[in-house]
Amino acid sequence: MSDTIKVSVIGASGRMGSTVCQAVEDAPDTELVGRYDVGDDLGDLGGADVVVEFSVPDSSPANVAYCVDRGVSVVVGTTGWDESRLETLRAQVEQAPEGTGVLIAPNFAIGAILMMSFAQQAARFYESVEIIELHHPGKVDAPSGTAARTADLVGAAREEAGLGDVPDATTHDPHGARGARVHGVPVHSVRLLGLVAHQEVLLGGEGEQLTIRHDSFDRVSFMPGVLEGVRNVRQHPGVTVGLEHYLGL
Ligand code: NAD
Repeated sequence: MSDTIKVSVIGASGRMGSTVCQAVEDAPDTELVGRYDVGDDLGDLGGADVVVEFSVPDSSPANVAYCVDRGVSVVVGTTGWDESRLETLRAQVEQAPEGTGVLIAPNFAIGAILMMSFAQQAARFYESVEIIELHHPGKVDAPSGTAARTADLVGAAREEAGLGDVPDATTHDPHGARGARVHGVPVHSVRLLGLVAHQEVLLGGEGEQLTIRHDSFDRVSFMPGVLEGVRNVRQHPGVTVGLEHYLGL
């Protein structure tokens, strides 16, 4: 009778999961039909049309497989989806009822997605590039998924432009203080009380510098992207990595 999308959330008691529950309740076109956390029986997923999954990297693949097996599309924010996990998931989705879609998004903040896109565009014009990612001290991984993804995009753009790895500075660096290297790009990780999620991409050329910076001050910054995923995942069967593919970037 209506176009309301029924949504269940897995990891519903967590920082992201509880914010998603609130956003789903507040949006005019979505209805929260299930909240699940560790130890809960997922049952019939509350009759959901779409599940949103924000749990922990070790549990996410099994949770997503449970939904996919039942033909329920999933929007996934949990980190840890490396190539081997994605390969397994792609095979599972192929066996799933037709039209089942999964969106895996390392970052749901629209500004962060634009930052990555702008950095990719700029990369071929600058010999020097470094990434600084800054997060709250509770973050379990470093470098962040967003920094790793940005470095991949920047590295690929440099490769295409024939630029190769970012050259080493001449400074002696016995302690690796110039950061980890991802796809040939130095990435620096800062963990500080008071921060939420921030990233700078610094691009240097002769006599100039371009800085592209994004700041998430609050988890609500991820909600427009999560809802965009919820509204569109069923129109994108198969596995999609990155919300940018839903945004025409
Ligand atoms: P959190 O620790 O606050 O919440 C995780 C929740 O998952 C907890 O309530 C925990 O009890 C629950 N959980 C654990 N095992 C479970 C299982 N087997 N089944 C169901 N629930 C289970 O963490 P958080 O800050 O909400 O982050 C969750 C994930 O989302 C992390 O991987 C984080 O890196 C990622 N994240 C992604 C984005 C994005 O934009 N994609 C943004 C922020 C965080």
